[in-house]
Amino acid sequence: MNNIHTGKNISLNGHTILIGLMADPIRHSMSPTMHNNAFAKLGLNYAYLCFEIDNQKLPKAIDAIRTLDMRGSNISMPNKQKVIPYLDRLDESAELCQAVNTIVNDHGILTGYTTDGIGFMQSLKDEGLDITGQKMVLTGAGGAGTPIAMQAAIEGVKEIALFNIDDDKWENAVRNVKIINEKTGAHATLHHLEDQADLKKELASCDIYVDATGVGMKPLEDMTLVEDPTWFHQDMIVYDTVYAPRETKLMQVAKQAGVDHVFNGLGMMLEQGAAAFKLWTGQDMPVEYIRNLLF
Ligand code: NAD
Repeated sequence: MNNIHTGKNISLNGHTILIGLMADPIRHSMSPTMHNNAFAKLGLNYAYLCFEIDNQKLPKAIDAIRTLDMRGSNISMPNKQKVIPYLDRLDESAELCQAVNTIVNDHGILTGYTTDGIGFMQSLKDEGLDITGQKMVLTGAGGAGTPIAMQAAIEGVKEIALFNIDDDKWENAVRNVKIINEKTGAHATLHHLEDQADLKKELASCDIYVDATGVGMKPLEDMTLVEDPTWFHQDMIVYDTVYAPRETKLMQVAKQAGVDHVFNGLGMMLEQGAAAFKLWTGQDMPVEYIRNLLF
């Protein structure tokens, strides 16, 4: 799958602009396929390459962005937080998340962005859905749940009820609620996911439920945090950040409940890439073309 390459041929030459992806492990990533095909489709003279970079190699790798005059890079684990001290600026979402997945190099000035939440919100807009002023119930406060919560708050979601289990991400959830209440116009509340009656109550009054826990994907493929369809109501949105499988158990339960708008995480994944693509090139990624090519 990762060798897919159609559209116009890019011929690399002396003017080719380099974009990186710095993470470890990283060879499995679909991002190079996505971006290189989008560059080719639009005839842009860019190349996107993976670099195996761990925390130890990170400072020199970030320096190399400036030295080699790269246009930027994606950043993934284990570097999303560790990269912050090496950057010159953070955008609002990266600042609130204290995590970066995209770097843009403007003549040696490196700005860190977090595009996952932007991608999540854009994927709803693509479906003609506007959740500003509404109430979100969110499960998960990790790498996906944090930017979703922050961007939703930045873009005007009124209320966020955040549920988490009592694990090593609980402190993240505490922090996220505090940051949202102190630094955005949204009101956030923190809930124990173990309290099922509370989850049922919050779901009854919400407009959108987002699951950002990964329950529903391997090895928890046949599981869902909400098993009873009566906990959902028809006019809400149910959104699972998982995209493999395409239809999770949660989505099946939501469909059983007759929920109008049920989504997997594919739109978020494509749109987070499109947001980075726009930051680097100033152009719109041909999202539908890439969706048809890759999925
Ligand atoms: P993470 O490990 O950073 O966070 C996982 C969160 O789920 C934490 O809040 C944790 O407390 C909670 N959790 C873990 N196991 C749980 C369980 N058994 N029951 C209830 N809660 C549990 O992971 P992440 O990077 O945030 O990824 C979460 C999911 O989001 C994954 O499925 C990942 O594939 C997906 N994701 C999708 C996109 C996208 O673009 N669609 C982007 C990033 C992540």
